Amino acid sequence: MSVNYAAGLSPYADKGVCGLPETFDNPEELKLKVETLAQLIKESQYLVVHSGAGISTSAGIPDFRGPKGVWTLEEKGESPHFNTTFEEAQPSLTHLALLGLQRAGYLKYLISQNVDGLHVRSGFPRDMLSELHGNMFVEECEKCGRQYVREKVIGVMGLKPTGRYCDVVRSRGLRACRGKLISTILDWEDSLPDRDLNKADEASRRADLALTLGTSLQIKPSGDLPLLTKRKGGKVVIVNLQPTKHDKHAHLRINGYVDEVMKQLMELLGLDIPKWEGPTVCEGSSATSEADVKPPRAVTAKGKMKKELIKEQRKRVALSSMDDGSIKEEVVSVKREKADSSSDT
Ligand SMILES: [Zn+2]
Repeated sequence: MSVNYAAGLSPYADKGVCGLPETFDNPEELKLKVETLAQLIKESQYLVVHSGAGISTSAGIPDFRGPKGVWTLEEKGESPHFNTTFEEAQPSLTHLALLGLQRAGYLKYLISQNVDGLHVRSGFPRDMLSELHGNMFVEECEKCGRQYVREKVIGVMGLKPTGRYCDVVRSRGLRACRGKLISTILDWEDSLPDRDLNKADEASRRADLALTLGTSLQIKPSGDLPLLTKRKGGKVVIVNLQPTKHDKHAHLRINGYVDEVMKQLMELLGLDIPKWEGPTVCEGSSATSEADVKPPRAVTAKGKMKKELIKEQRKRVALSSMDDGSIKEEVVSVKREKADSSSDT
């Protein structure tokens, strides 16, 4: 399947501000800023990264509002250029650097608006990642909440049934769940996934440093999450070429390519950037055995699916998150709102 995410969603009028000019810090300025960022990361206790489409453009997947973004070109009556398919796309330097930051213990939580699946396929631990708008490679049982990470894109969007069924067997001798599997990709009016949003909200409040990479922060509620960090006394660092909706809230604003910033950052922190060795799914950060780090599962005929990987179940998470009534109440009903085209709030 080609890269056709935007085309698969409902027509939608308000796409926010598209095609704003890009700004580049000069090399000396960029270097100084990345040094400041490295220092902030070293001093931080709880770093949360927010990633947007800008971190996947170097992987050949167009963004939405950049100069060559899907919607910027659409406004001009042009079509975007797709250099890859979702299945062939390889994680960018930034995806892999984030994996390195997580392994080194700096990065505590990752929140992404991207649906391209590259964080998961790079091997980033799924229990430290919220994918707020879904994942092209993940389908979910509408009955028990079990998720399946596939080798191929699901091919269905807007939380619609994929035609496959859940093969989870709760205990020996019992029949499989057989719930309908549905796409995890949100359409405009769909609510954000409870579990992912709750965890993102919690991590954003806990963070003392929020680093946003390649997002214009225009989509709510995802784009507003870094403000929770600031409200709690933390700092916000924004890396983006175009202006973002929350520039004025940033402690540090870096105008550079995310890959270049991350490359310099990893050097300054003395960390290696992990190598890409093909799609790998890591379910949990505590996974120590090889058994928890696997290639994604093929979409196979019913009855042939192998042992289930995912340990965390939606039902359990939903119950535990109710322990904190305030968070539950606040985020559960949040919908993905339209992009706010005003310059700021
Ligand atoms: Zn199920």
